[in-house]
Amino acid sequence: MQHQLPSDYITQMQKMLGEQAEPFLGSFPLPRAAGLRIHSLKASQEEAAGAAISAHQLFGLTPVPWCSQGYYYNEETRPGKHPYHAAGLYYIQEPSAMSAVELMNPQPGETILDLAAAPGGKTTQIAAKMQGQGLLIANEIHPARAKILSENVERLGIRNAVVTQAGPDELSARFQSFFDRILLDAPCSGEGMFRKDPDAISQWSLAHTELCATRQADILEHAAIMLKPGGTLTYSTCTFNRIENEECMERFLQLHPEFTLEHTERLWPHEVKGEGHFVAVLHKQSSGSDSSGESAASQRSGKRRKASGKSSSAGLADMELFQAFCTQTLPRFELGSGEPLRFGEALYWLPIPREGGFGAASLDGLRIMRPGLHLGQIRKGRFEPAHALAMSAPAPKAVWMQSYSPEADEIKAYLHGETIAAHDGSAGWGLVAVDGLPLGWGKASGGQVKNHLPKGLRWL
Ligand code: SAM
Repeated sequence: MQHQLPSDYITQMQKMLGEQAEPFLGSFPLPRAAGLRIHSLKASQEEAAGAAISAHQLFGLTPVPWCSQGYYYNEETRPGKHPYHAAGLYYIQEPSAMSAVELMNPQPGETILDLAAAPGGKTTQIAAKMQGQGLLIANEIHPARAKILSENVERLGIRNAVVTQAGPDELSARFQSFFDRILLDAPCSGEGMFRKDPDAISQWSLAHTELCATRQADILEHAAIMLKPGGTLTYSTCTFNRIENEECMERFLQLHPEFTLEHTERLWPHEVKGEGHFVAVLHKQSSGSDSSGESAASQRSGKRRKASGKSSSAGLADMELFQAFCTQTLPRFELGSGEPLRFGEALYWLPIPREGGFGAASLDGLRIMRPGLHLGQIRKGRFEPAHALAMSAPAPKAVWMQSYSPEADEIKAYLHGETIAAHDGSAGWGLVAVDGLPLGWGKASGGQVKNHLPKGLRWL
């Protein structure tokens, strides 16, 4: 494939890598490594532990050295087409791309922003490390990609994420000094995509790398505004040139003496099994923080929260319907810290960070794809559970769950949208699962389980 690479690109890499340019360019015709990351929010459940073990055997998994939950898989096994995938047991992710969140080191309970998040590889990895505690805002500027991000957040059962579809400037205008950690997995010239996506080669030019660098510098300015003093900003790209990586960091640090560079890492496709990645972790000094100890966003949202008392009392009535559903169907279901939020007929549970200062009013005027965990729809005073509730991890314990092995005919039938036979004791709402991992809702009556898997998720 080397002859298809632009000559400017080859020259750039030769200048950068010297003797190493030959093995680097020589790695392009080699097959790429396929990876998946076991989603610990689901795999750690007792019922699903066996599913995780059988995934190892089924897909020929071998560890990715830099990510404890990351594995290479045998591409012929097609894990993307397996019922475990539909159940959110893993996320298919390029192995090098797993390095950024490992270095970012998110913690449970933090307030975190993933600023350029679609399709969601790194968002779902951050969420797994947060263990459902704290607030994760996953943002994607492009509407179609934001929808895919939102679907992945749902499939992986993430409860504490808000998915927004906004420009970095719209976010920085309202969330100043707000986040403990920010990830900017920046839009880039994608030199690390050349092997996977030949279109990336035709779009590449030196001028395009410069354009990307300008855009990255612009987005970084917004990230700097939104990070709390004492917080960390992780910057990553899947491109190799210095202008979008080291030079971008150098320019940012010149403009922002309050930041220090803690760590940079490069993964190269001729040195590791992966397409390559650049990661930098920056720390923002603690001094010069808000003297009031309260961020601009919390002040603003605090004021607005007072004004939004009406919508929260409406939330109480909605929550009574939800609680009644739980008493009947999910007796031990527990919500984390949050508040109810109505969007039309939809009822959500909006996650609230431990120090507060964030609520429904903080999202006013933003395009929101998913304001937290979707609990259900309220129609004419009746509650109907949402798919996201079935998928939420750890798995909700329903009064009945019909669980099958991945090969069972019932699993194929359910994923195709068909009814299945009800077991003795199944009545009303309950869950259909593969090896203990919920796939979605069913409603049992008259010996049949009516299929409530959303139409868009059914297998064709
Ligand atoms: N983090 C994602 C993951 O791990 O799945 C991949 C993100 S991808 C490298 C970069 C994203 O930035 C794309 O989804 C792209 O739509 C988005 N993007 C493009 N232009 C942007 C801009 N001006 N501001 C913010 N994000 C932008």
